[in-house]
Amino acid sequence: MARRKKIYEGKAKILYEGPEPGTIVQYFKDDATAFNAQKKDVVDGKGVLNNRLSEFFMTGLNNVGVPTHFIRRLNMREQLVRSCEIIPLEIIVRNFAAGSLSERLGIEEGTQLPRPIVEYCFKDDALGDPLVSEEHIAAFGWASQQDMDDILSLALRVNDYLSGVMYGVGIKLVDFKIEIGRVYDGDFQRLVVADEISPDSCRLWDIESGRKLDKDVFRRDLGNLTDAYSEVARRLGVLPRTPMVKPTLIN
Ligand code: UDP
Repeated sequence: MARRKKIYEGKAKILYEGPEPGTIVQYFKDDATAFNAQKKDVVDGKGVLNNRLSEFFMTGLNNVGVPTHFIRRLNMREQLVRSCEIIPLEIIVRNFAAGSLSERLGIEEGTQLPRPIVEYCFKDDALGDPLVSEEHIAAFGWASQQDMDDILSLALRVNDYLSGVMYGVGIKLVDFKIEIGRVYDGDFQRLVVADEISPDSCRLWDIESGRKLDKDVFRRDLGNLTDAYSEVARRLGVLPRTPMVKPTLIN
């Protein structure tokens, strides 16, 4: 078989040219990075779990009418998605204070926010993805006012969907990050949820115990990351059918 053309390699995923025009294959790696890639490791099985979990969330969003780039999962580590033009913003939605919001505003982690707060960061690793305002976004032309209205509405719909699904399995959705892409249908453009939705890009806390089930386990050295992600996958019923560690054969 001909070698596929690699389009881009990021910290956690590789993008390949897809089988049909307008499609891309997203390959989920086991690499974990934090603090703008200053902390790095390989976490066995993370890519498989994130591929499954992102499939689960994106399919759920498509089913409730929130458009995403997701087409279908191809195998353990790959999914087929619509190619889109990524808007250079990280859209962060917060329900409870944590991470950079707690540091910036001195609000204790876990404090419930009066309402969901949406923040925008400019996607630029060299600059450390700085927080930006809608003024910056408009002035530098990263997105139009119509795009911003659509992005806000998508972000809040994703928040409602994800919060509900997670509450249903005893997990609190503290915050999350999404990316938005533009797709073109003829002369029309529309916005879709792109990239991935997984415990790499969400903060997920067990409601009963407060146990962290997301990338903070890696960022803050709180234990085994695969165990935490597997717990999320197990509760949602999306653990891979084939075991990730081959059982030893005894004869
Ligand atoms: N996040 C992400 N990628 C980033 C930055 C943040 O997925 O490059 C997610 C992060 O996992 C958390 C939310 O966005 O769920 C808010 O992150 P925060 O601004 O608190 O930054 P952090 O504390 O992770 O530096």
